[in-house]
Formats: sequence, structure tokens, C-alpha cells
Amino acid sequence: MRYISTRGKSAAKTFSEILLEGLAADGGLYVPEEYPQVKPRELDAMRTMTYPELAYAILSKFIDDIPAEDLRRMVNETYTKEIFGTDEIVPLKKLEDGLYILGLSEGPTLAFKDIALQLLGRLFEYALAKDNAELNILGATSGDTGSAAEYAMRGRRGIKVFMLSPFGRMSPFQRKQMYSLQDQNIFNIAVRGTFDDCQDIVKALNEDAEFKKKYKLGVVNSINWARIAAQTVYYFWAYVHVTKTNDEQVSFSVPSGNFGDILAGYIAKRMGLPVKNLIVATNENNILEEFFKSGTYRPRKDVAITSSPSMDISKASNFERYVFELVARDAVRMKELWSSLASTGSFTISKEELERVKGDGFLAGSSAHSDRLATIRSVDKKYNVLIDPHTADGVTTGLTVREAGVPLVCLETAQPAKFAETIREAIGQEPELPTRYGVLSEEPERVEVLDADAEAVRRFVSERA
Ligand SMILES: *Cc1c(COP(=O)(O)O)cnc(C)c1O
Repeated sequence: MRYISTRGKSAAKTFSEILLEGLAADGGLYVPEEYPQVKPRELDAMRTMTYPELAYAILSKFIDDIPAEDLRRMVNETYTKEIFGTDEIVPLKKLEDGLYILGLSEGPTLAFKDIALQLLGRLFEYALAKDNAELNILGATSGDTGSAAEYAMRGRRGIKVFMLSPFGRMSPFQRKQMYSLQDQNIFNIAVRGTFDDCQDIVKALNEDAEFKKKYKLGVVNSINWARIAAQTVYYFWAYVHVTKTNDEQVSFSVPSGNFGDILAGYIAKRMGLPVKNLIVATNENNILEEFFKSGTYRPRKDVAITSSPSMDISKASNFERYVFELVARDAVRMKELWSSLASTGSFTISKEELERVKGDGFLAGSSAHSDRLATIRSVDKKYNVLIDPHTADGVTTGLTVREAGVPLVCLETAQPAKFAETIREAIGQEPELPTRYGVLSEEPERVEVLDADAEAVRRFVSERA
């Protein structure tokens, strides 16, 4: 299995070669040369597999340059009851016949990013040890991604994490979760400024090629292929637990931001999983809804701040991978679309291409704050299940656009406990912390407060990297 760039100008590489890279040298994203296939016989075998067994069966198709026993060990160490709370890892909850919630947020930071990042931490450590190399991850977070990255990388050999966050602007839960980590390879930097200031500093230091090379800077962003591969697994898992035979189809509704989660569903479908519809659910930042309905992709300059904040995006960083498939991997067409995007700020696909999008099974919708509140309330009342605001976006759109007679699986991307304020607004009381988190850490907070100044951060990193 080799990987090529969506812009078509970078040499094909192996999995291990792209693992620690971000964008390809030509600015594109890596995708497999071709999608591995899962035969009906294999799908049948998955019906009785445990989650780690299934994860290995899928991942070994994408990762063929790590010895089988090593990959199996890392997968087995990642998907454990200890880390994800249950042996099922991603529990499937049935609300009623034909309607399910897939619990993807049982990991250490209570959001679905743990599923891929917990594996990524082990893959990174393994790859670095093999080359006797080191990596310093520099990132910015407004809450969720940063904590998932820290929990994935804590205590890992050869890796240090420098995570910038806006001073005084995170929820008490997020702050405790990140700052109370005692691992010596985790450095929390609270910046006196906004999340945008944090991002600007990370960007400035990453653009300094000399500094980047000298201090071996890397990132953990959502375009990393290993993350997408790890996310395809739970689509297979949900499918084999919802159906009895491979003749049945299932639809998925996915709260979407950077298009990583739902892209994994599309790839599962390309691998042969009988998926009917992939429902793109957005919040008020609905650039993806606009594209899937009209064929126009128009990133926004301003991002609305919403009550499903992990979906507040201006552009969808993984979307290019889907467009590459949509245009049948035609490099000339890709160039046309991306030139239009660069010069006019948008592109519009042709009628035939829009037909193809429909043929791929995509449906879309968006919801607003009041929809989230109403859905949280009604799901709680009707099924006695409390869902978080992101999951509520998925359920709202899923119930609106689903086809009758096709089972619908709504992906749960975070736990309600993370978004206490919105839950209180919806149902008049605070969500409970999952029992494993009954008491948040009493450990002292480890955080350095710095001015919103790239030089100050540069000094801090260079003294500790
Ligand atoms: C990241 C995230 C999303 C969006 O996932 P994408 O892969 O970016 O589309 C949705 N919900 C939660 C809670 C998230 O953390």
C-alpha cells in the first residue's frame, strides 16, 4: 500500500513515511493509491470480532509496513476497557427500532478524537524509536483537540507536547483536564490573548524553517491519514452490530467540522461496506451543507461561535480528499477547482459532479442553537438518554433527512458532561460526570503563562525541546 498526494506532484510513499508528515510537499493531502476492499466473507467474520480484532483487520489493510505483531500489539494496547471504559470500546445504544447512537466519546477526554489519537500516540512513539528520533509537537487549542493530543502523547518516549491555549478562556473542565497532567513531556502554555493569537504564534514558528528543523517541530492535525484510517473502523463495527446479513444497508449521521469523521465513513463505503446515506450534519457554520446541497464550496472568513464549538470551522481541512475522488482523481480538474478557490474564494462543481455526490449517498443539513436544545430535550424525554450539543446536531439533521426503512446510526462525538452550560439550558439541570471522572484531578496545575508573543514562546520551546 502506497500513498499519493491529492495534488499529484509528490512521490508515492509508504505508510511509515507519511505517518509523521502533515501536508504533502505539493500542498496536497495523502490518500491511499487505491482503497483496500473488504469481502463479504471478511465482513461476516467481523460480526463476532472484538473491537481490537476488528480494528486490526481494517488497519492492517492500510498499514502494511509495520510488522503484524507490532501493529497488533499497539492496537490491543489502545482499545482497552481501561482507556475506553468498556470492552465494547464504542458502545452502540439503541433508541428504538432503526435508530441508534454510536458511543465514540468514552475515551480519556470524553470526545471522539480519542479513538484515533490514542492509537496515533503509540504509532508515533514506535516510529520515532525505530529511527532513534525525537518530535516536538507544537499546537494551539481552544479546548478539545489539545487535550486529546496531550492524553495521547503523555509519557511517550521521544515526544514532547507544547500546547498553547488562551489564558482564562477555557471551561473549568477543559482547564483541569489539560493543566493537571503531571507528565514531564507535556507543556501547557497559557497565552495572554485569544485562540487566534495562539494559532498565529504556532503558524509563525512553523514557518521559520530553521527553527522548525532544529527543534524537530511537528503537528497532530486532523489531516493525518492514520487518524482517518482509525476512524473507518467504527463504521464497520456499527454496521455489523446493527445488521444480521450483508444485504442490509445502514445510514450514518455525522456531526461535521473538518470533514474527518464523515470522510472515514465514505472510505468505509468505498471499501465495500453497505452504507446507504452519509448524512453531513453541520451547525450554523454550514459550508459543508451548502456544498452538498448546491455544489458550491465557499469557506467563510468569519466563524460563528456556537454551542457546538468543535464544529466551528471556516474551512473543512479534510474535504480535499473527497473532492479528489469526486473528480475521479483528475489532476487537471483538481487544479481548476483549487485555482478558483484561491482566486475567487469558492468553487462550484458541475451538474454531473453534483449527481455523483448524490450517488455517493451524501445528504446534508444544519441546525441552530434552538434545534440543539430541542433535540437534547426530546431525546432525553423520549429515550432517557442525554446527548451533547454536537451529537444533537447529528440527531437533528439525521431525523430530518433520513430515508424511511433504513436503520440510522447517529455518531456521538462528545459527552454531555463537557458542555454543562448548554445541557442546563436544555433540560434545566447539570449533566453528571461519567463515574470514572466523578472527581476531577486534585493534582496541581502545570501551566506557564506567557504574553501573546511568538518570541516568548520560541524561547520557552527552545529551552525545553
Ligand atoms: C472534532 C469534533 C467534531 C467534528 O469532527 P470532524 O472530523 O472535524 O468533522 C464533532 N464533534 C466533536 C465533539 C468534535 O470534537
